[in-house]
Amino acid sequence: MLVPVLDDEKHYWVGDDEVEKLLRFGEGWLAGHPERDQISRRYLRHQARLTRAALARLADDDLPDPDATQLAHAEEEAAVERRIDLNEHRLGAVLAALRAGGARRVIDLGCGEGRLLKAMLDGGGFDEIVGMDVSSRALEGAARRLRIDRLPPDRAQRVRLFQGTLTYRDRRLRGFDAAAVVEVIEHLDTSRLAAFERALFGDARPGVIVVTTPNVEYNVRFDWLPAGSFRHKDHQFEWTREQFRRWAEAVAARYGYGLRIEPVGPDEPTVGPPTQMGVFSRE
Ligand code: SAH
Repeated sequence: MLVPVLDDEKHYWVGDDEVEKLLRFGEGWLAGHPERDQISRRYLRHQARLTRAALARLADDDLPDPDATQLAHAEEEAAVERRIDLNEHRLGAVLAALRAGGARRVIDLGCGEGRLLKAMLDGGGFDEIVGMDVSSRALEGAARRLRIDRLPPDRAQRVRLFQGTLTYRDRRLRGFDAAAVVEVIEHLDTSRLAAFERALFGDARPGVIVVTTPNVEYNVRFDWLPAGSFRHKDHQFEWTREQFRRWAEAVAARYGYGLRIEPVGPDEPTVGPPTQMGVFSRE
């Protein structure tokens, strides 16, 4: 489209349909282009009526203002950074809880792309590191992060991934010192929570179970998050501190586990921490 504009020459008749063409080719950039008037005028062969029609339509285009776009990007980035920071906090807290529980054989349930697995493998001190997820895509990501097919044999024999779901009893989940369930329960339909509890606390029964989940009270601190929405579109629920405590206490009592609840990230006086962690120890 710019060739005739730069030539300032068109060798065929320019009619009303050229306005449509201009708008179609210019979609997404022309309305905000600093030279849009000149580009339109030249493209439409200096026909005043057509140019006026085109410019009027371009002015109606609801284009984001470039400064606002920049700002939004900067904000998004800051939010991502804050989230990365929170990820690090969470990883550190979960690792510390696993180590404090003396766990050497650990299964990470809903391991996602394997951040915790990688930290366990690199940090050392674990004899068996297993990741399970329902999503094959997540498992592929984990395999890549761990470079699972290029590990030296001593490491390769310590780490393993498999596909499965948390809401069914599964003998492959048995026999571990500890299980981590990091930012996963909020992805489960509330009607499947009881099945998850039976499969993990009732059947697999590892010595230690570390569960983390968002604290919904903290959401007002995320300025990128529209009021009242969850942190991720896949979340089925997000709990307050009180809701989490009540759930965790009931599960601990039902299945014979002791319970400690810890904040993860800055624990603010009114809204609490961004993430809440329950550490269950089999009695
Ligand atoms: N624990 C990881 C990933 C959290 S995202 C981390 O902290 O980075 C939630 C993960 O739970 C996703 O990878 C999703 O595929 C997995 N998941 C959701 N429902 C599941 C289920 N029923 N069984 C196993 N994994 C599940």
